[in-house]
Amino acid sequence: MNKVLIIGAGGVGGVVAHKCAMLPDVFHEITLASRTVSKCEAIAAGVRERTGREIATAEVDADHPEQVVALLKKTGARLVINVALPYQDLTIMDACLDAGADYLDTANYEPMHVAKFEYSWQWAYRQRFVDAGLSALLGSGFDPGVTNVFTAWALKHHFDEIHTLDIIDVNAGDHGRAFATNFNPEINIREVTAPCRHYEDGAFVETPAMSEHRAFTCPDGVGTHEIYRMYHEELESLVKHIPTIRRARFWMSFSPNYLKHLEVLRNVGMTRIDPVEYHGVEIVPLQFLKAVLPDPGDLGETTRGKTCIGNVITGVKDGRPKAVYIYNICDHEACFAEVGSQAISYTTGVPAMIGAKQMLIGGWNKPGVWNMEQHDPDGFMDDLNAHGLPWRCVELDPESAAGLEVVAAGG
Ligand code: NDP
Repeated sequence: MNKVLIIGAGGVGGVVAHKCAMLPDVFHEITLASRTVSKCEAIAAGVRERTGREIATAEVDADHPEQVVALLKKTGARLVINVALPYQDLTIMDACLDAGADYLDTANYEPMHVAKFEYSWQWAYRQRFVDAGLSALLGSGFDPGVTNVFTAWALKHHFDEIHTLDIIDVNAGDHGRAFATNFNPEINIREVTAPCRHYEDGAFVETPAMSEHRAFTCPDGVGTHEIYRMYHEELESLVKHIPTIRRARFWMSFSPNYLKHLEVLRNVGMTRIDPVEYHGVEIVPLQFLKAVLPDPGDLGETTRGKTCIGNVITGVKDGRPKAVYIYNICDHEACFAEVGSQAISYTTGVPAMIGAKQMLIGGWNKPGVWNMEQHDPDGFMDDLNAHGLPWRCVELDPESAAGLEVVAAGG
């Protein structure tokens, strides 16, 4: 009996609940729990309406492992899908060890008062998961997540050695609001304002946030967009697990409007994560900002356009240089029609469901703590095609790949 506990009822949690409910042969019993139970109940009503399935709901504050342990014991869940915030990763991992459940998340742990993204805290749990005979899967969203699996699949089927990796995340959608983030505003703004780090010749190189940018033309008519180099957590695990990589970079598109708002918010101190005193109460400006910005979970109805996320990979095969581009294009409106959310939540929630499916029935449940690229990619790649995120792989000439040109001239 595959019983799962989903923690977090935001934009991503809604998609995970819907997609799990659509596979009753894999996910036999589903409980959706979060800090605000009314959000779980609203999602459960949507799931009932769209799929005809009942899912259970519960209230839990995952900052307290004992509450998660009690819920795991009550529900009998053997796997936790953590789509709350990165701050809860360690307490939920502790609870899984205590109650004997496997663990999956989509974002690596961050301490709340330091914007520091690294896997060290979660990798330190490896031996405890091995000893308990339990499995943890880290970063099963799109990026990290699918981008790691794309890289592992390319290595398995197209390369003897990978030398360079460029992950390019373009959101060509428009939500129609003056300013909003596509996922949790606090986490998004912490990520975007952090210094950039990319990997080159055996070390990470730090440069100021948003200092390097260029135009990128997406395939299939998604258009040309300005992409900015920034740090992203999958770079850390990919260069560790695929040591032939000489250079790894992550790029994300931002509109001039988004950057203008961000600059002003930053200049006036609203992106600070240290507490300030206001009328005798301590508040964190970024947390207050989150409270007044649109909820990303509510953007689905108005968002139009597409996302295009993929990897440009170069290396050698049979002694010859080779380059490929592997990518998915996802339509915001189609996501809304299917599960009531925009494409950023969808492209994160679908891989979380697929990662969970692989852990339950696909052999991705070896004891230990794993990043996505450490598992066999083939079943996951098939599932992307089957469950809403079809991908394409095109061969590039190495010169085009060096210039991040994935669309042939005139094409
Ligand atoms: P939201 O802010 O929309 O949702 C987060 C949910 O977690 C809310 O329901 C919130 O509850 C709940 N939560 C927060 N703290 C606790 C707690 N202590 N105990 C229980 N529940 C809690 O975020 P998103 O859905 O946009 O994002 C979810 C996760 O997905 C984030 O970690 C984000 O970083 C990750 N992500 C990963 C991506 C990838 O590609 N890998 C891309 C996009 C997002 P409440 O409603 O009460 O605040």
